[in-house]
Amino acid sequence: MLFIVSAPSGTGKTTLVERLVKVTDHLRMSRSYTSRPPRGDEVHGVDYNFVSRARFEQMAAAGEFLEWADVFGNLYGTHAGETDKYLQGGDDVVLVIDVQGARKVRAQNVPHVGIFVLPPSFQVLEQRLRGRSKDNEDAIRRRLQVAREEVSAFEEYNYVVINDALDLCVERMKGIVLAERSKLARMRPKAAQVLGTFEL
Ligand code: ADP
Repeated sequence: MLFIVSAPSGTGKTTLVERLVKVTDHLRMSRSYTSRPPRGDEVHGVDYNFVSRARFEQMAAAGEFLEWADVFGNLYGTHAGETDKYLQGGDDVVLVIDVQGARKVRAQNVPHVGIFVLPPSFQVLEQRLRGRSKDNEDAIRRRLQVAREEVSAFEEYNYVVINDALDLCVERMKGIVLAERSKLARMRPKAAQVLGTFEL
């Protein structure tokens, strides 16, 4: 099963999903690829898979990305092969992608469950962006402006959670994953196995 988590920058989606995959068996997070150089203490393969712009463009041309986008001049993408590899291995995968990326995946009719994370309020979002101290004032303003446009996209998702208290929010997201795994359509093969044991 593929889960897509979107939220305006600074809402806490990365923090949430990192915790979610730690507390949920058989759930993996797919790391995005990017052409931008690592910032601060970012680590290759942990925060992103960092590649050169030329390499990224080569991969995009070869159709290796499920979706990719140019964000303020830097390229970001989700590797289709990596996601497939996890899914084939029987794990569920979470993609942390923005509203535009989620739309691109939806347009390809890739089956998935969408979760939109909202901050408790605009004011709290602003505090979190400042608290993270990753961006300069210009970047924070730009992110807040984008957030104003992005929040109304929550209607496009299957689930909405509000990231008020971190632990509670992780619990809600885990609840969604577990409930999705128990849906009739997904449980039918396993239920059939159990029913098989009832035959004389
Ligand atoms: P995103 O991935 O959505 O851009 P981050 O995961 O980087 O957001 O989180 C933004 C900031 O908010 C980080 O400093 C993070 O520690 C903080 N944060 C995340 N969730 C919460 C929460 N529930 N309460 C308080 N702070 C939070």
